[in-house]
Amino acid sequence: MNNTNLVQRDLAVLWHPCTQMQDHEWLPLIPIRRGEGIWLEDYDGKRYLDAVSSWWVNLFGHANPRINAAIKAQLDNLEHVILAGFSHAPVIELSERLIQLTPQGLNKVFYADNGSAGVEVALKMSCHYWRNLGKPNKTKFVTLSNSYHGETLGALAVGDVSLYKDIYHPLLMTTITAPSPDCYWREPGETCKDYSLRRLADLEAILAAQTETISAIIVEPLVQCAGGMRMYHPSYLTGLRKLCDKYQVLMIADEIAVGFGRTGTLFACEQAQISPDFMCLSKGLTGGYLPLCAVVTTEQIYQAFYAEYATQLAFLHSHSYTGNPLACQAALATLDIFAQDNIIESNKVLAQVMAEATAPLKDHPHVAEVRQTGMILAIEMVQDKAKRIPYPWQERRGLRVYQHALENGVLLRPLGNVIYFMPPYIITSEQIRWITDIAILGIEKATHN
Ligand SMILES: *Cc1c(COP(=O)(O)O)cnc(C)c1O
Repeated sequence: MNNTNLVQRDLAVLWHPCTQMQDHEWLPLIPIRRGEGIWLEDYDGKRYLDAVSSWWVNLFGHANPRINAAIKAQLDNLEHVILAGFSHAPVIELSERLIQLTPQGLNKVFYADNGSAGVEVALKMSCHYWRNLGKPNKTKFVTLSNSYHGETLGALAVGDVSLYKDIYHPLLMTTITAPSPDCYWREPGETCKDYSLRRLADLEAILAAQTETISAIIVEPLVQCAGGMRMYHPSYLTGLRKLCDKYQVLMIADEIAVGFGRTGTLFACEQAQISPDFMCLSKGLTGGYLPLCAVVTTEQIYQAFYAEYATQLAFLHSHSYTGNPLACQAALATLDIFAQDNIIESNKVLAQVMAEATAPLKDHPHVAEVRQTGMILAIEMVQDKAKRIPYPWQERRGLRVYQHALENGVLLRPLGNVIYFMPPYIITSEQIRWITDIAILGIEKATHN
């Protein structure tokens, strides 16, 4: 088996995610034979450094020996069991540990089998909560502009990335969009904090006017990842929590991408010192091994559903692979690595290296901004730096960076014209400097004419 042969077979039978398949007439599809640590190796033996953690899921490298061992041990005991009426030690232990690690007040865990499905759980639960409390009109959701919460219809409806959403508009429930606190749009001289707080005032106006019909607000804490790694100030979240309490609206923190150390703390909400009513966790939860989503919520929400069966207050939602034991073991092994290796501390050094390595790009004539929150670093390529005019999307300049990086053995997958690093935490300082050099050359090429 080699690349050419596999690509032919692949294109005959597969339809890939988030892809215009015709691109593969000229853009090579890359079949991967094995992964080891930060490296992926294709069937021709070429290696690629996985600088985007395979779509933001991988934390401690591919084929990590400790996670592998945990899954292998589980495999001989129990691969899966129905979670309704039955339970098992891995799911119990994982729930205990998540409750311990997540902000105070979050103490019940419901499982889904991917991020979007977990978002649907939080949406349904929040609306159902108000119904159980005798407020059936609180059914609407507030979302932030430029947010992303997944691709299933409910999750898509509460997102706001037009590229993914517009076509499906007729299928989606109506939501209320509040302006994002995204600091990219701050005025010259305005601090990120001031800008984010200004947007909070817009949100308050919405909540004040429509509190009777609003169920919850859903946010990606600190970084709007799919929306181009746009970042905002923690004070927005602190203020949001207060507004939610004031106007009786539930707060859903979608930490699917930002959770597990990505923003510099284990969870992004910690930086705002808040507890949401729901926290959705997926992606890094299993170290990038298996699909799993944990929706962590409060005793107060749980109790609103807890009653005699005939009251019909129960949350009758299920997914076949809810709480899969293999996925739970991968998650437990991942949490062990965080604890044993003091990852949050060691990431601070890596984040500093990323900042220093990319600093020269700030002066690049086609880079509007180099921004960073913890282990996420993004470089925004633009046509006009002073006016922040983007390149026409048809030019696909980010794709040129992608191609340049691949030729040089790095997997960078820009979001439009935003080049970003979101590496596994096992990356070394030398590797950070190396991928930065490649990104800089790629940006040179992509902005050359
Ligand atoms: C990826 C993502 C999702 C969706 O998760 P899937 O497992 O891809 O369905 C939801 N919210 C955020 C913030 C994400 O980044």
